[in-house]
Amino acid sequence: MKFIGKGVIFINNLKAKRCVRCLAVEARSKGTLIGDDGVCNHCKINPSRYNRMSWEEKEQKFLELIHAAKGKHRYDGFIMMSGGKDSTYLALKLKNEYKLNLMAMSVDNGFEYPDSFDNARKVCDKLGIPYIILQPDMRQLRKFYRYIITEKHLRHDDYSQICLYCGNYLKRQVDIYAEKFDAAYIFSGYNPDQVTELGEAAIVEADPGLAQYQQMIKRTLDEKMQDAYQYTLQKNDPELAACFELPRTKILYYYQHFPYDPVHMLATIRQELDWEPIKRFSKNYLVSGCQLVCTLVHLCQQKNIPDYIQKEFSAQIRRGTLTKEQVEKVMAEIKFSNEEIDETLAKLDLTCAQMLTL
Ligand SMILES: [Zn+2]
Repeated sequence: MKFIGKGVIFINNLKAKRCVRCLAVEARSKGTLIGDDGVCNHCKINPSRYNRMSWEEKEQKFLELIHAAKGKHRYDGFIMMSGGKDSTYLALKLKNEYKLNLMAMSVDNGFEYPDSFDNARKVCDKLGIPYIILQPDMRQLRKFYRYIITEKHLRHDDYSQICLYCGNYLKRQVDIYAEKFDAAYIFSGYNPDQVTELGEAAIVEADPGLAQYQQMIKRTLDEKMQDAYQYTLQKNDPELAACFELPRTKILYYYQHFPYDPVHMLATIRQELDWEPIKRFSKNYLVSGCQLVCTLVHLCQQKNIPDYIQKEFSAQIRRGTLTKEQVEKVMAEIKFSNEEIDETLAKLDLTCAQMLTL
């Protein structure tokens, strides 16, 4: 694949106001406002006004959950394995520190960079964790992805519905096997911001108002998924509707119970597992993405609206897990070629021009 050359697009070329502290892009309709001092409203919230749970208490919650189920099922857990740094570090911790009986699984949806799976397999071999790659029927997969991208009823203007429905679909696929193999939990390597966005962080909120807010987000998203299910069922396509089923196995999000420190995690897995990022993301590696994420970032740039990845980076700066300088360095180096975007969309019989006029 060609990434550099004609038609290179840099991620930081948005013509918009950015927060001087967290780099958030101004989007008034989405509730991000930047003041005359250059600082956004998110940065001005004072977290000390909330009653926060200590890391010891958060860890305690995690230990209670895993000990309540340990040894009572055929597997203590199924790890959702992408081969990236988050799931790799998660597998290392669960296996070596908590001595859990695990199985790991990747879903090949056709939009991952193939060497991600080589990475995942190497990690699992080293840790002695059985690893399976699920390859769903390609025809059905393409139908599903084309549907969540183009269906008017499901669309968001920044294409973030792709990650929402795809994320649920991937979890449900792992869930089907976790049920078959009798696993107590599914372990996810989502970072704390992704968990909060999904409304799954109520368990680690000491403040009742914040906990309720998390539960409300979760309920809203579950309803959205059920709505997509019903809407699709009405089209007389139960097979497609099934792609919107919610997972039933309890999902544990490890990184909300422990301080999330990507730089430390990277150093640890490099040292203990000889882990290296895939070539696509090797320079100044901090985050990887699938081909669809790269595509939606590109399309948001074309529309000059903030994308999902930039929002996540800004949230991480505010949380203190990444510095503004680290993010600026990565953003200056993430680039896609038009060919790469075209290739991805061609898998779904779509073009960039079509996407921009949806
Ligand atoms: Zn800010």
